[in-house]
Order: sequence, then C-alpha cells, then structure tokens
Amino acid sequence: TMAYTIDLTGKTALVTGGASGIGYAIAEGFQEAGAEVIVTAQSDESLEKCVEKTKFGTLRKLKLDVTNDISIEKTFDEIDELHILVNNAGRIKRGLEYRIEHFADVINTNLMGVMRMSHEALPKLALTHGNIINIASMFSFFGSPMSPGYTASKTGLVGLTKSLANGWSEHHVRVNAIAPGYIETKLTKALREEDEQREKITERTALKKWGVPEDIAGAAVYLASDRASYTTGTTITVDGGYSIT
Ligand code: NDP
Repeated sequence: TMAYTIDLTGKTALVTGGASGIGYAIAEGFQEAGAEVIVTAQSDESLEKCVEKTKFGTLRKLKLDVTNDISIEKTFDEIDELHILVNNAGRIKRGLEYRIEHFADVINTNLMGVMRMSHEALPKLALTHGNIINIASMFSFFGSPMSPGYTASKTGLVGLTKSLANGWSEHHVRVNAIAPGYIETKLTKALREEDEQREKITERTALKKWGVPEDIAGAAVYLASDRASYTTGTTITVDGGYSIT
C-alpha cells in the first residue's frame, strides 16, 4: 500500500512575509509537498537574511510591501502562473495602537494588505482554480488590551475570509484562514522577553508550550491542497489548545 500523500507538485505558491517565521515554515512545507514557492519581505534586511536553499529546494525571493499598490503590481508582473496565495505578512505595534496613526498602520498592513493582495491575485487564481490562505490569530477571537488595531485587523480577517470565499466561489477560488496560537517568531520576541507574560501563555496553553513556526505548516499544506477541495470560508485554529482552556 502507498502512504497517504498530499501532493502540490506543479503548483506555484506566493507567501507574503514568507522570508521568516510562520511564512517561511509554510513555504518549506509547500516545497516538501512539491510546490514552487515565492517568499517576500518588505525590508532588504529580512530578504537578505532569508536562506533560499532549504531541505526541499530553492525559494524565490521578492521584495513586497502589501500597503503599496505599485509594489503589489510589480510583484504580480513577475509571477506567471499562481495556484496558492498565503496572506501571511503582518505586524503588531504592541502598546502603541490606541494612537490612531498606529491603529491605521496596523489595519492597513494586516487587513487592507490582504484585500489588496487577494484582489490582484484573483485573475491568476481564477485561471488555476487556486486558493487563498489568510493568517489570522488568537486575537481573531479575543481582545488584546495592548493591541486594539491588531485585534481589529485579525477579527476582520475572519469576516473577509468568509466574504471572499462566498464571492469568489463562482471563480472556483477557495479562501480559508489559519488562526495560530502563540508561536516563537520575531513578532512575539518582545512578548517572550517579559517573563510573566511568557509563562502566563505557556500555562494557559493546554499542551503547555509555545508553538514553533513548523506547527502551522501542516494546516497550510492541507488547506492549499485538493484534499481540502470542499473547504472554503473557514478558519482553522492551530493553538496547542490555548483557546479551549
Ligand atoms: P515575522 O515578523 O517573522 O513575519 C512577518 C512578515 O511580514 C515579515 O516577513 C515582514 O517583513 C512582513 N511584513 C510586515 N509588514 C509588511 C508589509 N507592509 N508588506 C509586506 N510584508 C510585510 O512574524 P510571524 O511569522 O510571527 O508573523 C507572520 C504572521 O503570523 C503575521 O500575520 C502574524 O500576525 C501572524 N501570527 C503570528 C503569531 C505568533 O505568535 N507569532 C500568532 C498568530 C498570528 P519584514 O521582516 O521585512 O518586516
């Protein structure tokens, strides 16, 4: 008998913010399943730091700012066929987001960036009957006292995922989301450096540990594949049981 497989051979995926953290692990997961993967970062520094040779192949790296229409157009001009878009780029400005300019900045990146990217990707995804995966958060369901903008953006993503899934079903484009729990990446570095916060999160998590980026890849590979061909508009939580305690 053959082992159960998830096959992305012949597929091309674009992972925004995939030069590091969760996006990079998703990119590697896609490659392992046979896909060609393009990763992006907004800064030259992150792009340079990103190791393009992985265990499973070579990543293509592009610079992309999801708040900039010209940058987005340029990115899609450089891509031929597209089967999978992962809207993973995101930021948090913990403690600053009660100020409207920071609130707006976070919404502009995390929520409007996803709309811009999805809109530009649609023609290509319609041709391939492709799919979109949005990276949501625990703050799609809870309210962060330190990050109202981040919370609003991630809650908004759950609704946007449902709207696009509904609206674009006629183009045979599926749209889903993943809500990760607490994952060790540079986005959570400041939080992990606060002993009390870090421990509180570990204690509350049913599996009693923070996640690593690789923990998110499996759900992404599944959602991107034909194994999920009847799944659209949903958000899958991958949080070590944080939200059930
Ligand atoms: P990283 O900081 O490693 O990844 C974030 C990526 O987004 C970076 O590549 C960054 O580029 C990019 N980015 C930020 N702003 C923009 C922009 N305007 N245009 C294009 N790219 C941009 O952190 P994570 O891996 O943790 O974050 C990935 C996603 O996962 C985010 O959406 C985050 O909200 C989400 N998430 C993370 C959790 C966690 O615990 N870590 C939990 C739940 C959700 P650059 O490096 O150049 O700034």
